[in-house]
Amino acid sequence: MGQAIQFQRFFSTDSAKAIKASKFGHLNAINYMAPHKSAGRGNLCASASPGCIALCLGWYSGQASFVADLENDINNVRKSRIKKTNYFFNDTQGFLNEAVYHINKLVKRANKLGLKLCVRMNGSSDIPFERIKIQACDNKTVFELFPNVQFVDYTKILDRVLSPSKPHNLHLTLSRSETNWRDCLTALENGHNVAVVFAEELPDEYAICKHYNYEVIDGDQHDLRHLDQSKWNRPNEYLGFIVGLLPKGRKAKLDKSGFVVRDHLEPYMQDDYALEYREECREYELDALQALSAGYAA
Ligand code: SF4
Repeated sequence: MGQAIQFQRFFSTDSAKAIKASKFGHLNAINYMAPHKSAGRGNLCASASPGCIALCLGWYSGQASFVADLENDINNVRKSRIKKTNYFFNDTQGFLNEAVYHINKLVKRANKLGLKLCVRMNGSSDIPFERIKIQACDNKTVFELFPNVQFVDYTKILDRVLSPSKPHNLHLTLSRSETNWRDCLTALENGHNVAVVFAEELPDEYAICKHYNYEVIDGDQHDLRHLDQSKWNRPNEYLGFIVGLLPKGRKAKLDKSGFVVRDHLEPYMQDDYALEYREECREYELDALQALSAGYAA
């Protein structure tokens, strides 16, 4: 690589999530950046919701959250994520060249350890890297450059999940927020998994928008989402699964925005959010019934 290296540790391999991966035969490497607009410029999360921005793990949990004032303080982890985000905006090609340099090193390290490499490019961002070509690498994307490496990501951008040209080595799980339940249903109905954060405990099954009960699998065992049950590895399944996660960080545990699901604990909750949610559900069901009676698939 001709350019100077800016990050000795571009990918984290020692976060709580990444460490769990070794029990499953993987070296898990995660790229963390300053989420949404927290770097003070640009937006790394095009489909973020108010709830997820307010609770984002990339800012309010783990090492990034070790500050006295969660909203205003800065620490070295946050500074490093801002620096990397600025790098991405100032010099996207340089950023990607450096990512490639580090992935090459990780491939060697995984081989030495006898582990499979799993890379998450968006630990705390939602950048469609599959759409960015790297000029210094024959205009290939990072996924094309490493066809034998498994990549995983969570995303709130439905088009990324449904895209027929999604790289074969990129596994995407759609993330539920308090505003995207229609997208969640579309993903599930097309056999893709949806990550949902549940307060206190995971239910065995859950109906997004009271629509249909989907089986909930435990997503906290590891971050290797490509190993999750899915229609692709479970014969006779054609719908997706809900990947259940418990809230991480102080803020998320107390969340009342609707981002963290609570109605599995109190099915008949009557707060404003629940009433508004049920109202939207009724509208959706009415739309679906009208479409059916007009002869269209709902
Ligand atoms: S989209 Fe994801 S990474 Fe971005 S702010 Fe929301 S939770 Fe954080």
